[in-house]
Amino acid sequence: MDWTGQSRGESPFAFVAAYDLHMPVSAKVPPPFIPPFDAAEASIAERFNSLERRPDEGTLHVGGERYVLMRAESFYLAWSEALAASFGEELTRELLYNTARAIGRDDCRSYCARLGVTDGVARLASGPLHFAHAGWAFVDIHDDSAPAPNDEYFLHYDHPNTFESEVLAGKGRTSSVPACVFSAGYSAGWCSEAFGMEVHAREVRCTACGDGRCEFIMAPSSRLDGHAQRVLQR
Ligand SMILES: [Zn+2]
Repeated sequence: MDWTGQSRGESPFAFVAAYDLHMPVSAKVPPPFIPPFDAAEASIAERFNSLERRPDEGTLHVGGERYVLMRAESFYLAWSEALAASFGEELTRELLYNTARAIGRDDCRSYCARLGVTDGVARLASGPLHFAHAGWAFVDIHDDSAPAPNDEYFLHYDHPNTFESEVLAGKGRTSSVPACVFSAGYSAGWCSEAFGMEVHAREVRCTACGDGRCEFIMAPSSRLDGHAQRVLQR
């Protein structure tokens, strides 16, 4: 049995049809991943459909929780450039990744507690959907992904439109290293909290570097180098 509870070798499409499941619209996932994503999507959509803007009070709430809208270019470029001026490029990337990872972890903890989501797979599935609804990026998960609560954990996915890459493209800028650091950190934090284990994400290809897409891997840190080497040989 794999992490969806489905026997390997069984047609995932048969499984989907038998249970009248639906492809999520706010993430792209391989067929075996559909059940947990289908189950999570309605509650995520309902939560974000309740967005309440009250400019007369200076507030914005989603699902009764206070949110803050920020302009992506200011949030990404102004913040990262200010940090880089003080701490240098390398430390800035580490700060952004670690900050985003802490935010993703806290968002997962809060979201799952408020909605009573306790199952590890359901908690993980909520992450990409929340990511899309909050405007960070769309998530396209590859079918070689195999999240598991042990060292074999591996997630392989693309973000076709991170806010970082869109901002850079809009400014006509490129980067010598993968630029979607916040997106990588946020997802790693959410998934670490969801599965109760420490995983890290690495962007192995990035449109800001001239690659065709922004491609990520996620695994325990001791396995990242090996996965990156394998994925980059393709
Ligand atoms: Zn990127």
